[in-house]
Amino acid sequence: MKRIAVLGSTGSIGTQTLEIVRNNGDALEVTALAASSNVALMEAQIREFRPRLAVMWSAQAAEELRLRVADCPVRVAQGMDGLLEIASMPEAEVLVTAIVGMIGIKPTIEAIRAGKDIALANKETLVCAGHIIMPLARERGVSILPVDSEHSAIFQSLNGEPKGKISRILLTASGGPFRGWNRERLAGVQVEDALKHPNWAMGRKITIDSSTLVNKGLEVMEAKWLFGVEPSQIQVVVHPQSIIHSMVEYIDGAVIAQLGVPDMKLPIQYALFYPDRKAMRDNRVDFFSLGSLTFEEPDMETFYGLKLAYRALEQGGSMPTVYNAANERAVALFLERRIGYLQIPELIQRCMEHHEVMRQPGVEEILAAEQSVYDYISEIG
Ligand code: NDP
Repeated sequence: MKRIAVLGSTGSIGTQTLEIVRNNGDALEVTALAASSNVALMEAQIREFRPRLAVMWSAQAAEELRLRVADCPVRVAQGMDGLLEIASMPEAEVLVTAIVGMIGIKPTIEAIRAGKDIALANKETLVCAGHIIMPLARERGVSILPVDSEHSAIFQSLNGEPKGKISRILLTASGGPFRGWNRERLAGVQVEDALKHPNWAMGRKITIDSSTLVNKGLEVMEAKWLFGVEPSQIQVVVHPQSIIHSMVEYIDGAVIAQLGVPDMKLPIQYALFYPDRKAMRDNRVDFFSLGSLTFEEPDMETFYGLKLAYRALEQGGSMPTVYNAANERAVALFLERRIGYLQIPELIQRCMEHHEVMRQPGVEEILAAEQSVYDYISEIG
């Protein structure tokens, strides 16, 4: 029996993780769950999965949850202290990080220190603190198992090959709902349009990020840290069918890819059971109805959020944090209809130009850089 804790259990990745637990009740057990404010779903999850500890980010939500689950053998905690308690509790072997944003950094570090393997969906953690997380994981001998489908594909395609034999990583991208559009058309994009992803059903923020290609930019950064390659070795390949989830090209020219239907449950399950593979039903690729798979170069001039990601990665230090924080705030403003679609990359660029890079920032400096971006965005209105 493998015991897991899930941060962000009420979200898109979190609920799919629990679906895998539901389907593998003889092999997986849930010891702790955390969410922000969705008390009703957390209550249902507690009643079904019986964790020992549940954490809500807000004090009010935690109080409400306590009343609702008073009849269950679960303790309810709150805020960052609660997340850190989950991260370090000895009962869990694997921590699934499925919360959104940099809030995941501290619990991830805490869990690595406690010797837990990390099933990592929360890419912002590696984007901003990869230089802290990866060496720490090596030092403690814990595995960082990618949940992101592209990184899981790369991980599966690497399958033990040494890093020195990798020529390039070919990171696939669907291209999002606006593939082939020019800036004039993009200027009119509304929230509802950007929330319609052609292939994947995901949380709101990442769906917007997929449409701007900023998600791919964050994935390029994530790949650099996970696989220890240079940014110039990561090539984004637009592949609208989302069947090839990514590929690795080796020094002899051989390309190894992982294919599958677009369903996050496969990479989540692979991370939870690694190195084992478990059966999964109803997720087979039907090559005959697919007919063809196509590939294009990404349009980094129109979707320059991706180009900015490479620049942030080259500049390094605190710049990826600035890229991520500026995007997070810009997406929130777009979702609140306070800025237009094209202002998302514009804001990222302005924040990056305004920032002076800090080399090797510690966690507090990363969080300070995030705050300075938020302050700057409020200042420029
Ligand atoms: P969602 O928005 O669907 O879910 C976010 C989850 O995090 C919710 O459970 C939310 O709780 C919880 N949460 C948010 N803030 C806090 C907090 N401060 N403390 C505790 N819990 C919190 O996001 P996704 O599942 O889409 O994404 C999660 C992460 O996985 C992101 O980093 C994303 O980039 C990454 N990812 C997602 C993919 C996908 O297919 N969705 C694919 C690959 C990576 P509540 O419900 O109460 O608000």
